[in-house]
Amino acid sequence: MAYTVTLVPGDGVGPEISEATKQVLEATGVQFRWDIHNAGEETLAKEGNVLPQHTLDSIRKNKVGIKGPITTPVGEGFRSVNVALRQALDLYACVRPCKSYPGVRSRYEGVDIVIIRENMEDLYAGIEFEEGKPETLEIIQLLEKRSGAKIRRDSGISIKPISIFGTERIVRYAFNYARTNKRKKVTAVHKANIMKFSDGLFLEVARRVAGEFPDIPFEDRIIDNLAMQLVTRPEEYDVLVFPNLYGDIVSDLAAGLVGGLGVAPGANIGDDYAVFEATHGSAPRYTGQNKVNPTGMLLSGVLMLRHLGETGAAARMEKAISDVIREGKYVTYDMKPNRDDPTAVGTSQMTDAIVAKLKGMR
Ligand code: NAD
Repeated sequence: MAYTVTLVPGDGVGPEISEATKQVLEATGVQFRWDIHNAGEETLAKEGNVLPQHTLDSIRKNKVGIKGPITTPVGEGFRSVNVALRQALDLYACVRPCKSYPGVRSRYEGVDIVIIRENMEDLYAGIEFEEGKPETLEIIQLLEKRSGAKIRRDSGISIKPISIFGTERIVRYAFNYARTNKRKKVTAVHKANIMKFSDGLFLEVARRVAGEFPDIPFEDRIIDNLAMQLVTRPEEYDVLVFPNLYGDIVSDLAAGLVGGLGVAPGANIGDDYAVFEATHGSAPRYTGQNKVNPTGMLLSGVLMLRHLGETGAAARMEKAISDVIREGKYVTYDMKPNRDDPTAVGTSQMTDAIVAKLKGMR
């Protein structure tokens, strides 16, 4: 049976790494029909819309999508396409495994953590009031009246909603993920000592949900303490569950622990749909240069295979990627000790080496 999957090539280096991912996924022997629909800056120029309806409809129909990074056009009125996509499909869980692969240059070894970030709420809900606008003054006056606090009139305001519903489902997702993937523990991260009614609620609900999973150890950490501990002893952490903003920041920190943005995969998952994508952006200055590392999007493809239940193919694909990285011969510039290393290969040569490994396994 062939899986029909929506493929969104994206902008910048997106089309190159999407092509790489398509080739490597096909080399696993699993059959795919690619339903190609784009989004982003180029699509805006062609169709007048950054996130066309046909792209959303395709993901709704196929239930699964894999996408290259998308450039957020600079200018008035553009919110991130990625945020809009997650909101439109209710992809509430952002899952970013950060694992050390031998051969990737990093200060750390043996890191194996999974970031689970709530994708819908918190300061990313898009509820913002611009400094100087009459409605902002109204909000300031209401807040002063209700809270007794003084707020400067020249303030901009961003609202941070965190709900019981949103927290329950993300924390439950984290525990179910830990159970399914045989992980050791779940850590909920917050700043409940300062934001008692948003982060405090997140912590209270997380503790309650933890009670439903007595087989999985649970602990919590304050975000600033966690930031320090992750760079001193990352091996002590396993599955980490965050409200949106802290999860966004710590995703990049964790990518740094395992060798940088080029190798960090991700998945955005909801109850009905799933969209897989690398953590990094469209790296526009490398567009069309056959230069960047395809690993982040390839490992996102591995996550997609697991999601589809193709665990054997996922294991083979991960092994082929990690073997090529460990051997260090057919790897991109960012994986070499020196970024100007003339022995670095391009995106397509690294892809070919991974495809050859996979064909050798069949
Ligand atoms: P970026 O991740 O695109 O690039 C930052 C730097 O990281 C690059 O200059 C490059 O040195 C390095 N890098 C990134 N990916 C790499 C790879 N695969 N191999 C080797 N090196 C790599 O971040 P940015 O420059 O802040 O953002 C560029 C655009 O991407 C912006 O428009 C931003 O909004 C967008 N963006 C999109 C997504 C997404 O689609 N999910 C995520 C982040 C940023």
